[in-house]
Amino acid sequence: MAEEIKSVAEEIREEAGEAKLYSNFIQDFIDKDLEDNKYGGRVHTRFPPEPNGYLHIGHAKSICLNFGLAAQNRGLCNLRFDDTNPSKEDTEYVDSIQEDVRWLGFDWEDRMFYASDYFEKIYDFAVEFIKNGKAYVCDLTADQIREYRGTLTQPGKESPYRNRSVEENLDLFGRMRAGEFADGSRVLRAKIDMASPNLNMRDPVMYRILRAHHHRSGDKWCIYPMYDFAHPLSDYLENITHSICTLEFEAHRPLYNWFLETLELDNRPQQIEFARLNLNYTVMSKRKLLTLVKEGYVNGWNDPRMPTISGLRRRGYTPESIRDFCSRIGVAKVDSTVDIGLLEHCIREDLNKRATRVMAVLNPLKVVITNYPEGQVEEFDVENNPEDPQGGTRKVPFSRVVYIEQDDFMEEPPKKFFRLAPDREVRLKNAYIIKCENVVKNENGDIVELHCTYDPASKGGTAPDGRKIKGTLHWVSADHALDAEVRLYEQLFSVDDPDDESEGKTYKDYLNPNSLVKLTTCKVEPSLKTAASSSRFQFLRQGYFCMDSVDSSPENLVFNRIVALKDSWSKVAAKE
Ligand code: ATP
Ligand code: MG
Repeated sequence: MAEEIKSVAEEIREEAGEAKLYSNFIQDFIDKDLEDNKYGGRVHTRFPPEPNGYLHIGHAKSICLNFGLAAQNRGLCNLRFDDTNPSKEDTEYVDSIQEDVRWLGFDWEDRMFYASDYFEKIYDFAVEFIKNGKAYVCDLTADQIREYRGTLTQPGKESPYRNRSVEENLDLFGRMRAGEFADGSRVLRAKIDMASPNLNMRDPVMYRILRAHHHRSGDKWCIYPMYDFAHPLSDYLENITHSICTLEFEAHRPLYNWFLETLELDNRPQQIEFARLNLNYTVMSKRKLLTLVKEGYVNGWNDPRMPTISGLRRRGYTPESIRDFCSRIGVAKVDSTVDIGLLEHCIREDLNKRATRVMAVLNPLKVVITNYPEGQVEEFDVENNPEDPQGGTRKVPFSRVVYIEQDDFMEEPPKKFFRLAPDREVRLKNAYIIKCENVVKNENGDIVELHCTYDPASKGGTAPDGRKIKGTLHWVSADHALDAEVRLYEQLFSVDDPDDESEGKTYKDYLNPNSLVKLTTCKVEPSLKTAASSSRFQFLRQGYFCMDSVDSSPENLVFNRIVALKDSWSKVAAKE
């Protein structure tokens, strides 16, 4: 019992042992800090999503890293909603983010926080900056602020409002909060250095005036702190030790430190940057994903073609396979693009171990076995999973009429075609050897059914005289088969890098018209009648499939193909 309810955190700790599971440069920082007793031996991370969209596979990397590093160092990891930007945030996202993090197997226990809960404290910190002469209210417009900032090669110009007195700044900032000024008319800025080579240090904005309804604080505030100001303070207020973020924040690190150092805070958290995950054939920007949803290019955030966690879940990915992927890609300091094939490899590896093998015919061709007694039904015991010694067996019915795959038959086969053809023999998996005697066509010349004979002495599929049968086909009994819809997927984009706009095109121009193909006349074996929603199978020779959690019902079975099988059946069959 205790075994089964072991949390992912415990698993990570156990596996980590001496050789840490996530051994990377961030763990090296942590090791050094533990050695120096920098935080009294504490390791405390956080995962800080902004609730302005659904989580994607890139976030999964950050989740595994933050929760994984905490777990393997016997530390803690918080979930924090970074909700300082009210106009784009929504409680729908807050709910989906919690569901996705939990589904991935991680637990923030009682440590779920919102940056908006700290608004009052962050305001007080801002007042302290003003009192220390380190912040001022500036009346320049946004355009002027940009203009005054200078460039990488030219120093900035000081704002004419930079030397306002502490009293005037306190008064104006209080009135900003009280709602006396129009949106955008004033900001609070840090007084740092307009000549700094780092543009982020040229008196960055700390607060702006914005009358927007916030999903939690409602209309209480009309000023909101900027991310760069709110983030280090939120980390500090949560006792975070290692604040892990993506590389684009590297140049913001001096500012992160400046806010905490200027306040002379103890136990200051430190920011460590890593390279974000990019996947080929995929867009990962939340803005672009939102557009795909809003403009109907996909059917919602959980469309099985989306790189979102909810999309991957619906497609049939397991949390184990995604965690495995995140640990295999590692953590680096240089941006790179990972091949989507690695993600597919991880789900194949996982499902190869645990998915029940079943037979499903996606494009059925009727086969009548003319010498098989009418009305007779035999049941064959079939192994559920040859990879799993405890997998057990199930009964699969066989009768006079079966379906095989249309492309397992060719009237005029090329040389290397070892499947069914006129006068040829093949094995029906686990059943009998059959021979094609006659091809029946309709008036258009289309093949409508095959007439075959079976060898009654070949029960189980072995030829009694030891004659060689090269082809083995999957099949379903026509009388017993269930109707099903099967959805086949390709990548959502047809080019390697859909973010590439160098040709004057955008990602929308690269949508793959074949990303979803619905096959509506499929026939699946009767054991699937009792399958649970979201359960996963290997359809022999066709790949791994998942019963759709949204559209499938006992009357209307719908399966998503998660991924095709890597090895072609011929190789698998050759080993039999
Ligand atoms: P936006 O698209 O709005 O800039 P974001 O991608 O930064 O958002 P957040 O919600 O701010 O998304 O991200 C939460 C955390 O996940 C951050 O710490 C961020 O660095 C991390 N993260 C986001 N995208 C990736 C990615 N592709 N790879 C690794 N980590 C990521
Ligand atoms: Mg962000």
